[in-house]
Amino acid sequence: MSIPPATGNTPIESTRIGPEDPRYRAVVDKRFNKRYGAKPDYVRLVGSGAEVVSAVEEAVAEKRRLVATSGGHCLEGFVSDPEVRVIIDVSPMKRVYYDDRMRAIAVEAGATVGETFRALFEQWGTVVPLGEYPGVGMGGHVVGGAFGFLCRQLGLAADYLHAVEVVTVDDRGRARSVVATRETADPNRELWWAHTGGGGGNFGIVTRYWFRSPDASAGDPTRLLPRAPESVATFTAQWNWTDIDRASFTRLLTKHGTWCEHSSGADSPDASLWTLLLLHRRELGKIFLRGVSTAGGGAEHQIEKHVSSLAAGIGDPAGGQATRLSWLEFALDPFPDLFAMPPGGVSMKMKDALLRKRLTERQIGVVYDYMTRSDHDVMGGAFGLATYGGRVNTVASDATASAHRGAILDSACNTGWVDRRDEEKNLRWVRAFYRELFADTGGVPVPGDRHDGALINHPDTDLADPTLNTSGVPWYTIYYQANYPRLQRIKRQWDPLNVFRHALAIRGE
Ligand SMILES: Cc1cc2nc3c(=O)[nH]c(=O)nc-3n(C[C@H](O)[C@H](O)[C@H](O)COP(=O)(O)OP(=O)(O)OC[C@H]3O[C@@H](n4cnc5c(N)ncnc54)[C@H](O)[C@@H]3O)c2cc1C
Repeated sequence: MSIPPATGNTPIESTRIGPEDPRYRAVVDKRFNKRYGAKPDYVRLVGSGAEVVSAVEEAVAEKRRLVATSGGHCLEGFVSDPEVRVIIDVSPMKRVYYDDRMRAIAVEAGATVGETFRALFEQWGTVVPLGEYPGVGMGGHVVGGAFGFLCRQLGLAADYLHAVEVVTVDDRGRARSVVATRETADPNRELWWAHTGGGGGNFGIVTRYWFRSPDASAGDPTRLLPRAPESVATFTAQWNWTDIDRASFTRLLTKHGTWCEHSSGADSPDASLWTLLLLHRRELGKIFLRGVSTAGGGAEHQIEKHVSSLAAGIGDPAGGQATRLSWLEFALDPFPDLFAMPPGGVSMKMKDALLRKRLTERQIGVVYDYMTRSDHDVMGGAFGLATYGGRVNTVASDATASAHRGAILDSACNTGWVDRRDEEKNLRWVRAFYRELFADTGGVPVPGDRHDGALINHPDTDLADPTLNTSGVPWYTIYYQANYPRLQRIKRQWDPLNVFRHALAIRGE
């Protein structure tokens, strides 16, 4: 994968682009999840904040429902909603530069995660702990909190957000560009706070973010953000399903979960190790553990120790490899086999849940059943456990809008399909799996002793369906916990006409 450096905006004049123009399809079809398709009246590719202001004001005046897109990686149909009439694509805006006035690194909202990693690394040798997939757009990503490979060591990307520039609409339908910072004296501070985890598509269209570590004082751009790792060691270990039975599977997940319970403190020497245990359905043949360590010279030893502690429960992996790479090389193409998609892409459903403790024996039994049962013919089904916690959990739940500050793992029940005719059986499988996994709390990961809710960057509209969420705890508490009423107040102030909305949007009322 080759990602060009993000150094300047493509000069572009925003015009209405209708269905007859090839650029229309390029914007409409820019969806990682192929499950949804949009049919807007027109799209716009915008090259500046001023163009966003006029594009928004025009759509509002014409009473056309509008939506922003950046990288196209929404897991739900928030952009590809059949009621959306106008899509405003900010992806031409991708400059990354030092802003002396703000004493922070400015990143325009159309840059991708990969473009941002590259610019931060090449210009200043620094990093923001962004997400794991280089194609994700900064526009929709950072506002959702944003976790990634380095979150155990550095926290969330939103923890480094110093300011945000947003195009909002007032009660008379007038659009304007607002800058909101985390400075305590800033009258717009609440709008900044909403962008540290409130989720995309709620308050306005982000055109620019500024990043700076909360404790940075220098004006020197090389010292405003954490230094990028000198190098990283990545690894994959795999076990064959033919060597695994229910007992060894239970031992593997128990050992893995116990390791996470003991190694997820911010001061743990293993906070420098991130792993993803990906359990595919048995018919696919294998279970994979992938990981990346930033433990410097000790990385290989750390990986070996971790893999052999798991192997004590299940036997040595049948295969695997470790590689040392520069941070940038890894960040621009992490685990190529993990993210490889067939031509034309796939439709998918992902159901996210944060865990404060390891899975119980009952839950491990549910995972085993759904990975092995043969009454569901669901080839693309999988269960993932990504390590979490560390530095993320050192921040107070209300310091940012990202309330989840007690989890040690981010789990996901996933499935994907290529043929539309397979949609129903895949949805049936993944929904039944998730419901049984969280059966003790109404079919969803209600925040509490064992679970910590779910991430809005992984939205799942099922949580708002009372037949699938029988917990009595509303979807917004699962995503925002006690921060929701504050987000509602900000929504009322900054989007009084409810211009920016989708199926799981913050409701002002
Ligand atoms: C393969 C893959 C890997 C991922 N990995 C991670 C990860 O490691 N960590 C993580 O935190 N998340 C991850 N995500 C989730 C991702 O962060 C969210 O889906 C994010 O919202 C995507 O932003 P986007 O701009 O690419 O998507 P889009 O589909 O363009 O937009 C997503 C949402 O944000 C809104 N939005 C987009 N641009 C703007 C803007 N400029 N202003 C306001 N709202 C906007 C949209 O209207 C929509 O509601 C991943 C998703 C995928 C598909």
